[in-house]
Amino acid sequence: MSTGHLTIDLAALAANWRSLNALTSCETAAVIKADAYGLGSDRVAKALAKQGVRTFYVAMAEEGAAIRAAVGEKAQIRVLTGHMRGDTDIIADLNLTPILCSVDQIKRHFEALPEQPFGLQLDTGMNRMGLEWDDWAAVAEAALRRKPVVVMSHLACADEPDHPMNPYQLDVFHQMTDGITTPRSLAATGGMLLGPEYHFDECRPGIGLYGGLPFEDARAVVRLDLPVVQIRDLTAGEVVGYGNSWQAERPTRLATVAAGYADGLHRAISRGAMLWHGQTPCPLVGRVSMDLITVDVTDLKEDPAALAIICAEQPVDRLAQMGGTIGYEMLTGLSARYSRRYVG
Ligand SMILES: *Cc1c(COP(=O)(O)O)cnc(C)c1O
Repeated sequence: MSTGHLTIDLAALAANWRSLNALTSCETAAVIKADAYGLGSDRVAKALAKQGVRTFYVAMAEEGAAIRAAVGEKAQIRVLTGHMRGDTDIIADLNLTPILCSVDQIKRHFEALPEQPFGLQLDTGMNRMGLEWDDWAAVAEAALRRKPVVVMSHLACADEPDHPMNPYQLDVFHQMTDGITTPRSLAATGGMLLGPEYHFDECRPGIGLYGGLPFEDARAVVRLDLPVVQIRDLTAGEVVGYGNSWQAERPTRLATVAAGYADGLHRAISRGAMLWHGQTPCPLVGRVSMDLITVDVTDLKEDPAALAIICAEQPVDRLAQMGGTIGYEMLTGLSARYSRRYVG
């Protein structure tokens, strides 16, 4: 078998949910959009449901199907893009709860599915999703009379605890919602770590569940091992890979492993990333190509059968940083070609 191998630790996932939940005295939902950040939304939803999670968020209505099948009829599945044109049937059939984000969506929802539960999203300054002040003022009374399940907003800078945008958005959220009886939600992973004043009635972590920053105390959930396809010896002066971007300065033993940028291992990690044999780092050399990566294994005592690229020694966020990106993007880019094993 030549595909990379992903190990997804569902016990660590569950432990991360419990640790985040322990920070709050409110409900802790789970965000499992984008196939649970690439890790498999059916398995992730089932594992979290076992911990007592009853509310799941997805980005798009279509994502609800796999999750409804996994968690049964009782769980609430909320759709962050709300009720789009064409979504009415799937919302009704799967009993989804759209988070309405505009006056148009509110109208569409109340006309098409007046009995179907819904939530509301307000914009408190991020300018990405949600009703702004004027629209909210115009529709709040009528919308609240229909008893939304939640009124939420989203923080733009919660991964920077000292950013002035955090207290600013908190203040705007208070001004827009104080006095209402509907449950309120503001915090994702970053917001949960800012403190209890950001927690309101419900928190909605995503990345922290999957072991990513900014939740520094998270347990690692993902490990990625890449099989070695070939090993060769180079004399000093020989070059490696496209563009001859690396040249051996000493006699070198070189391993070629089976994964590349087509598997989400961006070309930008070509400089600086390590592959690991147990606790021993082996530098990635040359350019990442579509399906292959070359690695200097000269200092190993034995030829490896596989090398790890995401592991305890090199967490997903460190690898992401080397490629100039974030753990979220690395996780959601994990290849469909990898074989997967769920443990825990
Ligand atoms: C993605 C998302 C979340 C989860 O964010 P994390 O940073 O992954 O915890 C919560 N709320 C909304 C609106 C989102 O788009």
